[in-house]
Amino acid sequence: MHLATLRDMPATETQILQNAFQEFSRASDSIINYYAVLENQIRELKKEVEEKNRELTRAGEYLYNLLNSLPVGVVVTNTADVLFANKAAQKLGSTEFLSRLNNGGRKSGELKNGTGYYRWKRENLESGFESKEVIVLEDVTEVERMKERVERDDRLMAMGEMAARIAHEIKNPLGSMELFLSMLLDGKLKAKEKEYANYILFGVKTVDRIINNILTYTKPKTLALCEGTLSRVVRDTVDFMKVSAETRGITLRLNADFEGPCYFDPDLMKLVLMNFISNAIEAISRPEGVIVIDVKEERERAVITITDNGTGMSEEVQKNIFNPFFTTKDKGVGLGLFIVYNIIKAHGGYVEVESAEGSGTSFSLYIPKDEA
Ligand code: ADP
Ligand code: MG
Repeated sequence: MHLATLRDMPATETQILQNAFQEFSRASDSIINYYAVLENQIRELKKEVEEKNRELTRAGEYLYNLLNSLPVGVVVTNTADVLFANKAAQKLGSTEFLSRLNNGGRKSGELKNGTGYYRWKRENLESGFESKEVIVLEDVTEVERMKERVERDDRLMAMGEMAARIAHEIKNPLGSMELFLSMLLDGKLKAKEKEYANYILFGVKTVDRIINNILTYTKPKTLALCEGTLSRVVRDTVDFMKVSAETRGITLRLNADFEGPCYFDPDLMKLVLMNFISNAIEAISRPEGVIVIDVKEERERAVITITDNGTGMSEEVQKNIFNPFFTTKDKGVGLGLFIVYNIIKAHGGYVEVESAEGSGTSFSLYIPKDEA
């Protein structure tokens, strides 16, 4: 139909071709324009996608940083494997903990690992991540230690008060006993009688000494605090104890990192150190006995640590060592650590103990550097 019309028309072939070309170029122009618009749109879209990708990466990094700077451990698991563990969790040894968390199916609990205490809580993820769970692990060692210290303080205070009251009651009749015994001994006694009376007097004097110890150290009110160099007192005591240690084949070693001033009672501090060192000596039965004494500084406190490679203590023994009259030794009295504890407490300080049966014990004394 169209061809017939063209043939009928008086137009030349060139005219037709020209028209066709014009038509074609108009069409291609519009296609090119349309294409340019499309291209622009694609470019815009691409930019948007790139921007979104960057935002997504930033959000990922943000979340990752956030999780890593948390003071608590965060672990994501599919109940079998650890899928993610933040820095704190890695430091706490999340995989080791996880195997212990997985039995029982509980939602929260507490764990002990060596000397550390941890509290944990687990929660299933939501919104499409139901197969995973997140476990939050918190190191509460310091809090637990503080709690233990306060409990121990209360218990020992009560025990100390009772011991002091009993000691006080015993002191008077004991004085009379000693007096009458001396009178008996001054009189005319047969040799055997004299011998027996002397035994009794010896016993009475021992009881008197113990009672004086309790009364003096339960509340050492008369602290002679003065500014001095703690490491010097430690060095003097170590030198003094060295001889008796060496005769038993035990090496005493001192590392004094802190040489600065500190407020303490030098005589009582010597007594404290002698108690710890003799306990350490008594705890060592192996041939290569070593006792290391460190003097350090930790924030506002001077810290003396006495570490031995002796028998160590069970947890049960550790719970009781500061109680008056607690001893595991045949000839022990069980007052040494009770006295030490009271002296350090009177200085405004505290004592911590770490011990493992078979490998040794470490006592740390924390003493405020400034006047308590
Ligand atoms: P005592 O020395 O008279 O037994 P202490 O109060 O000095 O009394 O010590 C109490 C108990 O603490 C000891 O009997 C011992 O069981 C334990 N003990 C103290 N120091 C150590 C140590 N360094 N190593 C192992 N056990 C220790
Ligand atoms: Mg002792």
